[in-house]
Amino acid sequence: MTKLADKIWFNGQIINWEDAQIHVMTHALHYGTSVFEGIRCYDTPNGPVGFRLSDHLRRLEDSARIYGIKIPFDLAQMVKASKDIIVANNLKSAYWRPIAFLGECGMGVTPKADKVKVDLAIAAFPWGAYLGEEGLAKGVDVCISSWNRAAPNTIPVMAKAGGNYLSSYLIGKEARDRGYVEGIGLGVNGLISEGAGENLFVMMNGKIYTPPVAASILGGITRDSVIRLAKADGIEVLEQDLPREMLYLADEIFMTGTAAEITPIRSVDDIPTRVGGPGKITKRLQTLFHGLFNGTTEDRFGWLEPIEAK
Ligand code: PMP
Repeated sequence: MTKLADKIWFNGQIINWEDAQIHVMTHALHYGTSVFEGIRCYDTPNGPVGFRLSDHLRRLEDSARIYGIKIPFDLAQMVKASKDIIVANNLKSAYWRPIAFLGECGMGVTPKADKVKVDLAIAAFPWGAYLGEEGLAKGVDVCISSWNRAAPNTIPVMAKAGGNYLSSYLIGKEARDRGYVEGIGLGVNGLISEGAGENLFVMMNGKIYTPPVAASILGGITRDSVIRLAKADGIEVLEQDLPREMLYLADEIFMTGTAAEITPIRSVDDIPTRVGGPGKITKRLQTLFHGLFNGTTEDRFGWLEPIEAK
């Protein structure tokens, strides 16, 4: 595995990156039984901060709860471990990848409760713009995938679980194979769901529309942050079902995610948005969002969690 940082936190200890090994017969590798998070640590004028670190780790606990996976560390321990691994790697800005997974549990799909071993690893490493710096600035071209998102009551999409990412893999791969930067999945009802690894926002006539949690989406923490920043800025945000054609009629569209941050979309299926790149609302929200980290936006919601106690 390419070395992305010196150290990694694994089951309570900070060890060398190359020593964080598991066996090929690990349950999660065969059956997708893992829950994970992606979290950003930003370097701010007041030092490095985790952006909604605790909220992300709470979502990790929620994902585990849906699957009955018992993580052998509590929230406070995971928050501390996440901060410790930033310090151990001497990082200022980073991407965290905590992952809890079924380890050595035998080969059965549903191991007996007393045979279940859950491991927890927390990696932290530098990671730039997921869809590229140019994408953040100019917008990206995306397509609707021929693959739908998982239907309700099949695989729980509110859980950020390893197995779910087979859907993201298919949607993302199809889009990239066809020359697009990212793919958007529709729900089984044909309504808009989300990107392969991002939530979706559509702007029309000065209002922002985004599909609700029931539309087979992951309840993104960036999504929630953007909704709250927009509302606090006096912009109307409507969480509602959206037909596919809204994407072809939109003034502006952007995607949100921890990795993608706020990435403008400039065309869907080769149909440009009316603005044809990052529009006024998208740019305003980018400014407010990034302002949290350069000190120009007040942290009124208490989202910034310092890595080192002052
Ligand atoms: N949807 C999917 C499928 C994702 O993988 C992600 C990235 N975690 C998101 C949405 C955005 O979620 P967040 O803003 O919490 O990173």
